[in-house]
Amino acid sequence: MRTYVRKCPTCGGEVIEKQVTEVLSGGVNTAFVKVTVGVCQHCGERLYTPDTVKKFEEIEAKLYHQDTSAFKPLGKSFQVSAF
Ligand SMILES: [Zn+2]
Repeated sequence: MRTYVRKCPTCGGEVIEKQVTEVLSGGVNTAFVKVTVGVCQHCGERLYTPDTVKKFEEIEAKLYHQDTSAFKPLGKSFQVSAF
């Protein structure tokens, strides 16, 4: 099922499907999400389907509400005060 536009709306370049890692954040949490998106071969613009955007919003909401039990932890993030 391919729902990406074939031409980049920004530059008119050819759009191909590619797996990329998007960094999403909500509140103090961050998630790295591997997702297949459309990428313009000319300018590198990433094009998302409405389903992908919806999924991102769901993940960001879960991050925000600390509802991360379904996510695989990769490590911890730390804030370090200046010294
Ligand atoms: Zn482009």
